[in-house]
Amino acid sequence: MINIREIPFRTTISGLTHSISVIEYKHPQAKANIYMQAALHAAESNGIALIYLLREYLETHDFPYNVTLVPFANPFAMDIKIGEYTYGRFDAKTGENWNRGFKNLLTAHAGLEKIDLDAFVEKYQDQGFDTLCQRFSELLRARLAVSLQNDTAPHEKLANILHDLALAADFSFDLHCDSVSAPYIYAPSYLHSGRLKHFNSNAFILTPNEPSGCFNQAIFYPWWQLTDCWNRITGDSKTPPKHAFTYEMGNKESFDLKNAKHLLEGVLEYINNPANVKNTSNKYACYEQDFSRVRAPIGGMVNYQDNLLGSLQKPNTPLATIYDKNSIIGISKPQVLSVPHEALLLTRTSSATVHEGDEVLKVMTNCFNI
Ligand SMILES: [Zn+2]
Repeated sequence: MINIREIPFRTTISGLTHSISVIEYKHPQAKANIYMQAALHAAESNGIALIYLLREYLETHDFPYNVTLVPFANPFAMDIKIGEYTYGRFDAKTGENWNRGFKNLLTAHAGLEKIDLDAFVEKYQDQGFDTLCQRFSELLRARLAVSLQNDTAPHEKLANILHDLALAADFSFDLHCDSVSAPYIYAPSYLHSGRLKHFNSNAFILTPNEPSGCFNQAIFYPWWQLTDCWNRITGDSKTPPKHAFTYEMGNKESFDLKNAKHLLEGVLEYINNPANVKNTSNKYACYEQDFSRVRAPIGGMVNYQDNLLGSLQKPNTPLATIYDKNSIIGISKPQVLSVPHEALLLTRTSSATVHEGDEVLKVMTNCFNI
């Protein structure tokens, strides 16, 4: 059964109220909880296409999961247009990145002391890991409720509302897009296994056990810390229970239903099938520290090599060429951009014109097969 509800987010000067639409699908024999949000960075609209298709799928299939969908995770930012573009990554008034206001619920905030994980684990040690996880889930929800009462800055209020909707999810997907990009996925490194090959993307960035203000890390970080603490105290070898992903679904400023259908098929395979995939095409991962920017050594115009996006390149492969003013007027040669090691070219910036120091490309290095 599908239910739709609205959570008020923010009233505007003209009296409009922006609200968060939440699509909830409940199944009587649910095997797990799934959460998906799109367009938190409001110009990154391919995720809306995926949620649209998933909602249609849920209406016509018996899918044994509880599913919460938020197709417009940032309705206020979606309405801020600069010329023909959506100014969706930052709050136009404060400059805050909309994906940096999520709480590390372990730390002291709003009058709460930080969680003493050792004491928490020792308290529930005799009752087992599952009970520990249930109590921890309740604790996180109570701490987030305090934040929901206290935080009024827009990027924090929005983050708290979304965080609260995602808190019970076993599988969570924050759907984004990069500038001009092959599809790729951020996953916590504890999820590194052949199961990732179910996704219809061939590049994965493995994130470390560190906090940040972004949605995905806010979801998995407390659980990773808790599980590490449990394993240290009990000698056990549990894996954190959260399958939490940021999915970069290709180019921003696009609504590509064909691409979304292809990527959704992989998402459903990942959820439905815990087994590792063997003998399929190569898929590559690197650690987040090896996902880096190539910046413009000089200002000018860039001729990109979009045919190389998403594939592994040999060392010193020309990845783009910068035509600066001197090369245009004929007193120097254009500059070729490359990296001196094997690299997977993943994204390039949207504009053909860059100042010195601007980001031009993002590449994965020290890649390994999944
Ligand atoms: Zn984004």
